[in-house]
Amino acid sequence: MKGCSILMIVLFVNKQRKFDSEQIERLKVVCQDAMDAVSKRPFIDNSLRHQSTRMSVTISFVGSDFMKKTNYQYRNMNSLTDVLSFPLLDMHNGKMNESLGAQDVIWHKDGIGEIPLGDVLISLDKASEQAFSIGHDLDREVAFLAVHAGLHLLGFDHIDSDDEKKMINEQKKIIRTLYPNEKTGRLDAPGSPEPVTENLLNHSGFAAIIGRPNVGKSTLINQISGMKLSIISAKPQTTRNNIRAIVNRPDAQIVFVDTPGVHKPQNELSRFMVDSSVRAAQYADVIAFMVDGRFSGPGEPERSILEKIGRFKKPIVLLINKADDVAKESILPIIGKYSALYDFTSIIPISARTGDGVEDFLEEVIRHLPSGPRYYPEEDFTDQSERSLAAELIREQILKYTNQEVPHGTAVLIDHFEDVFGEPQTEDLERQMVRIYASILCERKSHKSIILGKDGQMIKRIGTGARQNIERMTGCKVYLELHVKIREDWKNAATHLNELGYKPGETRDKS
Ligand code: GDP
Ligand code: MG
Repeated sequence: MKGCSILMIVLFVNKQRKFDSEQIERLKVVCQDAMDAVSKRPFIDNSLRHQSTRMSVTISFVGSDFMKKTNYQYRNMNSLTDVLSFPLLDMHNGKMNESLGAQDVIWHKDGIGEIPLGDVLISLDKASEQAFSIGHDLDREVAFLAVHAGLHLLGFDHIDSDDEKKMINEQKKIIRTLYPNEKTGRLDAPGSPEPVTENLLNHSGFAAIIGRPNVGKSTLINQISGMKLSIISAKPQTTRNNIRAIVNRPDAQIVFVDTPGVHKPQNELSRFMVDSSVRAAQYADVIAFMVDGRFSGPGEPERSILEKIGRFKKPIVLLINKADDVAKESILPIIGKYSALYDFTSIIPISARTGDGVEDFLEEVIRHLPSGPRYYPEEDFTDQSERSLAAELIREQILKYTNQEVPHGTAVLIDHFEDVFGEPQTEDLERQMVRIYASILCERKSHKSIILGKDGQMIKRIGTGARQNIERMTGCKVYLELHVKIREDWKNAATHLNELGYKPGETRDKS
């Protein structure tokens, strides 16, 4: 810190485990210097330079897993995995688009106003990999990433080529002030300097399946992955997380997102669901818009979804599902009505249930994916952890056995998830068992007694069904203990949404 000349407060969060505290302390200094250098540039809006205010930035050092997830969720930066920035202010090239408002400043007791510019995530794994391949040290790489991110927070961007020039130009100037004696080194673009060509596929990317509840999105995901991963239920709106399936082909990888149904927000939870499904579509490379073929044509939800996703200018494949349940001759008129509505990349009748048409669909998606790296190792079938899948499988059983009685006021929280291994001396490193303690949260006393059932019969059934499915997933024995708890109004309680992993505008930190 440099006394009263300080313009930028940098707050740090360390979410990775590989680098020791000494390295982290050093990197903090590097980032602070980088942000100071950024904050001294003349381009910064005068309203951010007031005597009684300081800009602030939160920098999190994260590991590669965390980055992978966040990067996917907010993939608005050409799939960079080294650094991500989340600006809070509406700015363009250092200038405020609108003047600073009361909501932008946090006044502290000492009379100093803090203006948070936003969050920066830096993957130290990726940074050190890049530092190595470029041939400079980690500090230098992190300095570069911090400067790059700092500029993003101040409204610089590299999407438009004109703006990109400005950003690179600024970046160079700032790096030169930090490393005046350096002859070579990284001054320009972020991201991997040299794509590792052997990992590049001709088709690799993300596909989002969008559609109103109950059209069969989860069924399709399950059909595709051939595994029971995502919750299916006859009742709408049960899929609350974006569950992914991954299709690996020798020359292609598709990462699928099963979005929650698009519907009108009523409370915090459903607002989050709508946001995340549209967001998934926005950052996907291909959008699959699924409709129920048993309806003769588009309804109001279909029109409004199309209007939203049409704006993203992405290839949209129309899937007319449940073809197994519809007479062939009624499909053609449906195709006619939908093609009058939007210029789809293609229209494919499928049956998510039987698998008819699904291979055609996959080929169509692959055709529209850009070339790129495999985003997930080939052996990954889903990036959801077993922990959250276990919670989904428990929820599925609750819905199966309790019918309409306990509507959507339940959530499952995994309190404890433990892998039990064999005796070390047997050299048997296979997991022998998984021990799970989970809480079922419900809104009312009456719900609790339904879930428990007469003499505890219901909870026993739920537990048995869930345990069997979790055993199929983990491939080993499972000990499952369930507790039913009442949490009134959990749907609106932000803290609970956090605990359960529904974090609007943020990602989950599983560590
Ligand atoms: P989502 O809300 O869009 O994820 O829909 P689900 O996948 O949960 O499916 C809703 C209902 O439609 C379930 O009862 C499924 O069994 C049923 N379903 C899904 N796909 C098909 C299909 O291809 N044919 C038929 N006949 N039913 C389907
Ligand atoms: Mg679903």
